[in-house]
Amino acid sequence: MTTSAVRVRALCRRYGDVAALDGVDLDFAAGPFTAVMGPSGSGKSTLLQCAAGLDRPTSGSVTVDGTELAGLSERRRTLLRRERIGFVFQSFNLLPSLTAAQNVALPLRLAGRRPSGGAVREALARVGLAGRAGHRPSQLSGGQQQRVALARALITGPAVLFGDEPTGALDTTTSREVLTLLRQLVDDEGLTTVMVTHDPVAAAYADRVVFLVDGRVSGEMTAPAAERVAAHMTGLERVPCC
Ligand code: ADP
Repeated sequence: MTTSAVRVRALCRRYGDVAALDGVDLDFAAGPFTAVMGPSGSGKSTLLQCAAGLDRPTSGSVTVDGTELAGLSERRRTLLRRERIGFVFQSFNLLPSLTAAQNVALPLRLAGRRPSGGAVREALARVGLAGRAGHRPSQLSGGQQQRVALARALITGPAVLFGDEPTGALDTTTSREVLTLLRQLVDDEGLTTVMVTHDPVAAAYADRVVFLVDGRVSGEMTAPAAERVAAHMTGLERVPCC
């Protein structure tokens, strides 16, 4: 039996008259790296937010690590999110007054656990920042800040890591470094990763690409090459001629 880290069934999310998600069925198996792509407004962020328990769907179900989110109280959902789900954002979202080590330790503190210096050091070492523990975000480059955010997302040992355009604010070289690191974490540690991106080169780091159009899954690609992804995206974004 294949295990799914995340299972999404008949997922709908409406904002007033807008159907941001309109019946999405997806499985994110434990292990691989999936990229989610689609034109602007196709529902990518909404899918990630719903799958990560940050937003509540209008209908349908999301199961993370065997637990159905809809049935959980607000408190249990927050706990599950903290312990089993990692999230990295385009804008890093680090606390500016805390050092890298303190930012990384935060999820453990919020969970009422006393973070050990060893665990925090190890998390920073995993993302190549062993020497930066005492630096504040303003003393770090964008790529280093995203690595701190990654270490913070991974410190609890989540079942899945979600990234919403995690390299969107980085220059090309730094972006490739962060993607290489993500790929390494997937290969070496079996980290289940789901990343929204608009960049075909970034998507080519994944094992699978899921395409969304108008809140629905429009197709999939495995072993994606950047050129093939770009060609497919061009087809999706083509404005119908009069
Ligand atoms: P994408 O990430 O693919 O650009 P989004 O998931 O952000 O797409 O948005 C999908 C659709 O839902 C868009 O039409 C967007 O305008 C709408 N939408 C998203 N979030 C909200 C919100 N908080 N309030 C109203 N409409 C929203």
